[in-house]
Formats: sequence, structure tokens, C-alpha cells
Amino acid sequence: MAKEKLRADGKSPHPKRAGRKNFQVKNTVAVNKNIMKSAKSGWGDKVFALIKEEEKRQTDGLEMIASENYVSKQVLEATGSVLTNKYAEGYPGHRYYGGCEVIDKIESLAIERLKKLFGCKFANVQPHCGSSANMAAYYALIKPGDKLLGQAIDAGGHLTHGAKVSFSGQIYKSFGYGLDSKTGFLNYEDIAKIAKKVKPKVVMCGYSAYPRSIDFKKFKKIARSVNAYLIADIAHIAGLVATGYHQSPIGIADIVTSTTHKTLRGPRSGIIMTNDEELAKKINRAIFPALQGGPLEHVIAAKAVAFGEALKPSFKKYIGDILENMKVFAKTLMSFDFDLVTNGTDNHLILVDLRSKNLTGQEFESALGEAGITVNKNGIPLDPLPPKITSGIRVGTAALTTRGMRPKEMQRIAEMFNIVAENISNKKKLQEIKREVKSMTKKFPLTR
Ligand SMILES: *Cc1c(COP(=O)(O)O)cnc(C)c1O
Repeated sequence: MAKEKLRADGKSPHPKRAGRKNFQVKNTVAVNKNIMKSAKSGWGDKVFALIKEEEKRQTDGLEMIASENYVSKQVLEATGSVLTNKYAEGYPGHRYYGGCEVIDKIESLAIERLKKLFGCKFANVQPHCGSSANMAAYYALIKPGDKLLGQAIDAGGHLTHGAKVSFSGQIYKSFGYGLDSKTGFLNYEDIAKIAKKVKPKVVMCGYSAYPRSIDFKKFKKIARSVNAYLIADIAHIAGLVATGYHQSPIGIADIVTSTTHKTLRGPRSGIIMTNDEELAKKINRAIFPALQGGPLEHVIAAKAVAFGEALKPSFKKYIGDILENMKVFAKTLMSFDFDLVTNGTDNHLILVDLRSKNLTGQEFESALGEAGITVNKNGIPLDPLPPKITSGIRVGTAALTTRGMRPKEMQRIAEMFNIVAENISNKKKLQEIKREVKSMTKKFPLTR
């Protein structure tokens, strides 16, 4: 049950995040123009040439890391704005610095939009990332040494759900639940039994690598039966929850945490929501002054922009398209005899079990990389191989859908996966696929 056994090296199951995209479009925002100018001659700092290099990498390849996405140029502009200059410790109307009158309006707007987006009563938009949102949620609810029950990291849970290499497994006494060993699905009866035995103060649900829907009501019942709080971490599925494509934990879980940069398609950051006024006060005090100092108001502004985008009907269509794309991609892969954990998916990601293909996650990630396709190796439930190698990969469609790719491209990309698997060390073949990838991406420029 102890998590350190399950993921000994403590590596994140989604190690590489590529960062943000700069867009080569007409009327591109000032910050990007500056970057391009400086890359040519301008400020002469090597960093800007490297940013251009990364921009090219993001443009020319197929990004299928399930936790990544491409933000709009408006989100990018807010992130690169002068708001980075401002100190604003505290909350709107209650700051410890002068000159916050505009910042207050921006942060209030972010809060109001977030509340509307998820239909919640209280929201904190200051967490710097998903991990700090979880840290604050725990801080608001439990004391060091209290018991925490979360999903084991090798079963798709996150480091912050109690892994021993994380603060969450060191400050709190953490226990893990896994997945049904036969089906790969959550087994609520098993989890209820573990909860009865452990008697945790907090039950954590919501995952980094689980391809199926989560029943928050069942989790609430489990938590309530042992008098524990329930936290739902919707980091991956936030976009699906906001648009009604996944059950919402708002009003069910005591606290809901999330990142904003995965399916929600905002800047790299975190949020916390609740419907309980007393908990909301504790969450606010946990974020500031307990855990963080000055909020990143430029990122909060970018979150406000992203929440505004997510409130539009076009965002609901976008999420629907991600799911349709994933269905087609998964079906096509399965037609080439790839095994998927749980035999399919309800969301934006799949876990591919590569054992029947005689490949490791490490090998396949690396060969796909040579072919211009980025995924991450990922342990499968009860993976016999260590986390640095693994028997699986995790693949998502959120980023490619942002570029406008549709089922036709998904089918071809799934075929490319098969070609790569069959030509794992055929450099020539991999280069051929890479050329095809590049010409495919040309038809889907990053113009949002
Ligand atoms: C990505 C993720 C996080 C952490 O987000 P960071 O912004 O990388 O700190 C937390 N929980 C889950 C379930 C995640 O998938």
C-alpha cells in the first residue's frame, strides 16, 4: 500500500512539459514581435533565440502529451504583460501593497469568471500551479501527521496525492488505493474497504493518467462513511467538467483543485474552488499568508482571459472535438492490435499497454520522438517494469485538437504509431514519418 514502493524514483508520470507557444500570425501580439525581433538582432540575449527554437519545435511536431495544450495569443499576451511588475500580497480589497486598484479588478474578474465557469460559490485564483493548489487544500483541512488516502502514483495518481517523495507523503501519513487488477477501472468497493481500514482525514480523487470517468458521488459516500473530507483534483479533466462532458465535483467534494493549463487551455497555473464559506476562508489563509507570498498577477490575468474563452460556446465544441478525436484515435490504434488499459477511454487520454507489442514505454516514446511525435512513457497498472522504462505510454488529443486536427488526421496518426512500432529501430522509416508529420503540421498552423 505504501506509495514509495509503487514509484520508487519519484519521477512525475508526465515529465516533460514544453511550455508555451508563440504564434506566427498576422497581428501577433507585441511580446511575440519583440521576441522575434530580438532573436534576429535586438537584445542579443541567447534566451530569445532559444525561445524561437522551442517555438519551432512546438510548431513542427505532433504534441500528444496528455497534459499539454496551446494557449491563445490573448492568454500569451496577458502572461507576458506588465502585471509581472506588481506586488499584490493579500486579496482584492485587502492588500498589503499600494497601487492595487487595477490589479483588484483583474483578480476579481478572474474569480467571477471562474465561479461562473464551474458554478461554484468560492474560488481562489492565486495558486502558482496544480501542486500548490493541492498543498493549500491539505493545509486548509488537515495537520501534519494526519492520514491522507489518495490514488497510488503507479495507478494514475499524482505525486501530490501522497507519494513518499512528495511533501504530501512526508508531512502527512499517506496511503494509496489502486485500480481493479482485472479491468483497470476504479473499484469503489475496494476503495471503500481501504478507507475503512485506514480511516483517513482526507480522501483524494482525480488523476493524471486515468482514461475513464470518475464518480465523485461514490467517492463522497466513501469519504463520508469514514468522516473524511473529499478533495477532487480535476487537473486533467477541468475542461471536460466545465463544459458538462464529465460529472462535476462542485457541491460534492469539499474542495476542488485544478491546474489551468491542461484541457482548460489557460496559462500554467492552479485554482481552488469550494461551496463552503468556512473552508473558503481557510483556503484563502492557506494560500496567503501560509504558503505563498505575492500572487502572479500576470498569470491571474491570463487565467481570467482563459476562463472568458472557456465560457464561450466554441470552447464546448472544442472539448467535444477532443473527445471525438480521441475515440477515433483509440479505435484505430486498437484496430492495429494495440492494447489499451480499460479497453478504451471516456476522456481526452489513453494509456497504451505495449507488452503485446514487445515494446517498452521508453523505447516507444523515444522512437515516436524521432518521428516527430511527442508522448510520454507511463506505467500501466501493476507495471512489471520500473518507472524509468515502463510498459506503457500515455497519449492525449487536447493539443492537436487545438490546432484544428480532426478524425481524418487522428486515423493517419494512429497508423503512424503502428508504423513506428513495427520499425522501432529503422532510422530511415522514422525519418520518413517525421517528414510526413512536418507536412501535416503545416496544414494546421498555430493561429489561435
Ligand atoms: C498535472 C497535475 C497536477 C499538478 O500540476 P502542476 O501544475 O504540474 O503542479 C496535480 N494533480 C494532477 C491530477 C495532475 O494531473
